[in-house]
Amino acid sequence: MASLSLRHLARARTAAPWAALVCTRSLRFSSSLLDIPITHSPSSLPDIDPSKLEVIQNPNPKTPPPASTLVFGHTFTDHMLTVPWSAANGWDAPRIIPYGPLSLEPSSTVFHYAQCIFEGMKAYRQPNGKVTLFRPDMNMKRMNNSAHRIALPNFNCDSFLELIKKLIRLDKHWIPTQSGHSLYVRPTMIGTQTSIGVSPPNQALLYVICSPVGPYYPQGFKPVSLHGTSEYVRASPGGTGAFKVGINYAPGVLPQKAAATLGYSQNLWLHGPEHYLTEVGTMNLFVVFKRPDGTHELVTPPLDGMILPGVTRDSVLALGRGHASGTHRLDLPDKFVVTERQVPMKEVQEASKNGSLVELFGAGTAAVITTVDKIGYLGEEVIIPTGSDGMGPVSRIMWKELVGRQTGVIPSEWSVEI
Ligand SMILES: *Cc1c(COP(=O)(O)O)cnc(C)c1O
Repeated sequence: MASLSLRHLARARTAAPWAALVCTRSLRFSSSLLDIPITHSPSSLPDIDPSKLEVIQNPNPKTPPPASTLVFGHTFTDHMLTVPWSAANGWDAPRIIPYGPLSLEPSSTVFHYAQCIFEGMKAYRQPNGKVTLFRPDMNMKRMNNSAHRIALPNFNCDSFLELIKKLIRLDKHWIPTQSGHSLYVRPTMIGTQTSIGVSPPNQALLYVICSPVGPYYPQGFKPVSLHGTSEYVRASPGGTGAFKVGINYAPGVLPQKAAATLGYSQNLWLHGPEHYLTEVGTMNLFVVFKRPDGTHELVTPPLDGMILPGVTRDSVLALGRGHASGTHRLDLPDKFVVTERQVPMKEVQEASKNGSLVELFGAGTAAVITTVDKIGYLGEEVIIPTGSDGMGPVSRIMWKELVGRQTGVIPSEWSVEI
């Protein structure tokens, strides 16, 4: 750990452009691994400058398709935002241009060494017509952390967010008015250096595309089944599991197919000889246990470098802690504690048998909450309780509270108007 930080420090000092980390220091994830101590000399190269934005309107705007026909991530709006970067000149002028193909040389490093990071956030249309984002500052900081991890350049969070808001404003008629619908916003950064050496790229492209989406579960909640996966790993100590980098996702597709072949809808990623639960597919994971004295314990694995620091995860924890401390009571059990600790599969198996397992669910931006009804584990089926509505006593309240805050039904400082 110490030597890792030192190496980062050394690189940050010698490589000013991607050392210009403006937001990471204010990050307060609970893992020291994510709080990489970077001492950065301010770069003399230009950062992202929203005042230099050039907007080229799409001359052939499309008609947004009927909301009922939307399939997640298949349809894109009329415009996209692009901001090129080079080691020599820093961030170049941002442009909003018609959505369309990028032109890249085949030698671009993104195609060889997966120099690619991304984010996922949603813009919601409130009942009063306002358009809002949910805790977008967290996505900006996380994206800078991801960039740093694979030596892509950093950027000023506020400037980039201002540009994203401009893009959403321009395409806001694409946000379906139906309830449960939103605009999925996908910021991406790729290394575009055209010489194929493994090194920090001397060119990169930051871009943002937007996709109108419907509710993840249009037919109401349907719990999913999981395959307890220990034959493949998603993340490992010292690896990249805590960052939203492209390389984490392609290797997960084959295990997902294998789980589907066995009749399960997603992977439950288990770590180490103890088979600690880590994540569900591409979601964070929560378990609820009932202790002998009636206390409900809401548990999620700690940010130990193998867990993606999800915005939804952080929000569920904050809501749970607000209730537990009495500062903001919700309709949750009175005796309630929130912990971040490792949970071995054995504990879930035993709790399922002795009745102390209350529920298990995944949390992420796309579906908000996904409940689980069983886990295939070492030839056994571990049964997870769910209510008649497909949810449990904690997930039901969390879902209502989160969606309420996202859509403006519940006023919240997490909701940011664009
Ligand atoms: C994006 C992601 C999550 C969820 O993060 P949110 O910010 O809540 O959307 C969880 N796990 C993985 C692996 C992810 O990629």
